[in-house]
Amino acid sequence: MSTNSTREWVDPIVCPFCGDELQSPGAGFVDHIDENEPCEHRFDQWRTNIAGDIGGEWTG
Ligand SMILES: [Zn+2]
Repeated sequence: MSTNSTREWVDPIVCPFCGDELQSPGAGFVDHIDENEPCEHRFDQWRTNIAGDIGGEWTG
């Protein structure tokens, strides 16, 4: 896509599930998972894991 002059892992403006670039850090992610069912599903599973089973298995 763009020139990889700065390759930093800490980039809050990308989807942690598919790596897509988001339009904005906060609302952009909500829009993203709203438009991408796989990501929304993973996000839902992630939230469930955090809330219910901390330290549980990560089934990708
Ligand atoms: Zn995504």
